[in-house]
Amino acid sequence: EIKYYSNPVYLKNEIAGSILFFIDETEQIRSQKIREEFSANVSHELKTPLTSIYGFSELLKNKMITSEKDKEEIIGNIYSESKRLLDLTEDIMKISKLEGRSEVSKTIINLRVLSEEIISVFKSSASNKNIRLSVKGEGTIVANETMMWEMLANLVENAIKYNVQDGEVTIELKQSKNIEISVLDTGIGIPVEKQKRIFERFYRVDESRNKKSGGTGLGLSIVKHIVKSHGGEIVINSKEKVGTEIKIFLPIDTKIYN
Ligand code: ADP
Repeated sequence: EIKYYSNPVYLKNEIAGSILFFIDETEQIRSQKIREEFSANVSHELKTPLTSIYGFSELLKNKMITSEKDKEEIIGNIYSESKRLLDLTEDIMKISKLEGRSEVSKTIINLRVLSEEIISVFKSSASNKNIRLSVKGEGTIVANETMMWEMLANLVENAIKYNVQDGEVTIELKQSKNIEISVLDTGIGIPVEKQKRIFERFYRVDESRNKKSGGTGLGLSIVKHIVKSHGGEIVINSKEKVGTEIKIFLPIDTKIYN
């Protein structure tokens, strides 16, 4: 949507013409809409686990449950729903912190070292499914280190979470005119028709599948925000029951936009 404003131009106290200002408000309106949608979604996402916790604890409080087995199940539900609430609030805080930054510092980052650090952090959760983690290639970038960490950690976390028993996760680094960072897994994959939506906030491919693994649906939207703010691009290549590759292209010396 283009709005224009007209300003008269005076010459010797007489109107000699006018200057037209054209302002593109499309971007402003769009980001306003995204913010409004986000707040509505946040309320909904927080309310769902809270309602369950409230309902389950009310049953216990009113001594409505007598069997030990049912009690245990309800306590388990309260526990997992509280964990979900905690994950959600953490992710939401991350988003507002990322978007609220006015100045972002940049440093020279050895991506090989960073990737190896991330792999060591995720070693124990990968070992639960006997998943092998590895890094290939090299790369150096000038970027914000916290954001690069967050971006890679989110991708590796997904690659483990949506992987199969005895699977593999590889971080591949390539450096030429720009930097290519790929995170590859041998997991369940993402159906083609769902692939374009996975970067949307709160979008999950399969609600029931995610209830178990407890995803918030925010991880990839955080990744996309980081990539975009570094002037990069993100590409997905995935096949169901084969695996997923998320590939990120970044300039070597990034300009950080916010
Ligand atoms: P979540 O917190 O649910 O993992 P994300 O934003 O990180 O949210 O991912 C959005 C959805 O995309 C996930 O719910 C999952 O269904 C799908 N997804 C993301 N990464 C992978 C992957 N490596 N393999 C298969 N599915 C994935």
